[in-house]
Amino acid sequence: MTTSQDSMYQAIILDHYKHPQHRGELADFDAEVHHVNPTCGDEVTLRVRVTDGEIAELGWVGEGCSISQASTSVMSDLVTGSTVSNALGLQEKFLELMQSQGNVALSEQDLESLDDAIAFEGVSKYPARVKCALLGWMAMKSAVASATSKSEA
Ligand code: ZN
Repeated sequence: MTTSQDSMYQAIILDHYKHPQHRGELADFDAEVHHVNPTCGDEVTLRVRVTDGEIAELGWVGEGCSISQASTSVMSDLVTGSTVSNALGLQEKFLELMQSQGNVALSEQDLESLDDAIAFEGVSKYPARVKCALLGWMAMKSAVASATSKSEA
């Protein structure tokens, strides 16, 4: 990774930390989850509304380190308005990116679909911070699973 790419990635993370997207509590929602990352003290409470197989709305509140909060913001931007299957596909790719330990094996196309989330690539080199970056994504995955199982019942 070049230094300029590194600082560009840091700028993306800082921008999302300062201006979190989709932050707030949804009044109308199908599922709510609360996830914590005890090793760092990060917390996120996330609500989703799923309509016709799409994440119609997502809102979250949280506290913790800049990586956890910025990553949740980036995730929210990417999955809101997308289909559930696309959102879960992105979650898998992001998980793969985070488990790569700096040796990313994803295709160009996969990396492109992750958009701003690739800014967290460097985090994969620090195992202690990987859980921070994954917190919001894991919360989204379980909230969506809960919302979709409810609508099928
Ligand atoms: Zn953290």
